[in-house]
Amino acid sequence: MIMVKYSFVIPIYNEEENIIELYNRLMSIVNDLDGQTELVLIDDGSQDSSLKLMSDLNQKDRRVKYLSFARNFGHQTAVTAGLNFVQGEAIIILDADLQDPPELIPALIEKWKQGYHVVYAQRISRMQEGWFKRLNAYIFYRILNRLTNINIPTDTGDFCLMSRQVVDILNSMPETNRYIRGLRAWVGFPQTA
Ligand code: UDP
Ligand code: MG
Repeated sequence: MIMVKYSFVIPIYNEEENIIELYNRLMSIVNDLDGQTELVLIDDGSQDSSLKLMSDLNQKDRRVKYLSFARNFGHQTAVTAGLNFVQGEAIIILDADLQDPPELIPALIEKWKQGYHVVYAQRISRMQEGWFKRLNAYIFYRILNRLTNINIPTDTGDFCLMSRQVVDILNSMPETNRYIRGLRAWVGFPQTA
């Protein structure tokens, strides 16, 4: 059995327009990585042809694996299922809609190799988003940080790399209604943006 070094967790809900481009862009990065890679796609009850595209990719490239939900359970549940399934030493979560640029992945891996257990991507600007979403995000993160003792970094998403140790801890936690970027901050360990 080949040991997997890098695992990707990618939740998918009606992403038929993005899956092939995502795969191609990821693969051009994956092929340069120093270890075996798996892409784990989680179909969260898509109604379009996403699942078919995923199974086609799995047929042609065994590094692509997929899970399929019986209905739409939501993004955080899809990511949770993926985290329970993956085998790698470094686990990278990214959205399928290409808002999380795969080209940043080598930089995340570099930080992991320096000893960080969590490396999260952080937005410097939200200028591509509308004013309403920007205002919402601004207020949300400020209220969130006042409500908790945990410092949850602002303007980050789920796009991140986590070590096997951190993922094992997340998988062992009993929370069912999960806010992963909050739990990720809560577990501790050296973390960086
Ligand atoms: N997604 C999912 N289930 C859902 C909604 C979204 O698995 O019910 C996936 C979606 O395909 C994408 C990621 O979760 O890969 C983020 O979703 P979206 O882009 O809609 O979220 P936003 O960018 O607004 O945070
Ligand atoms: Mg998105």
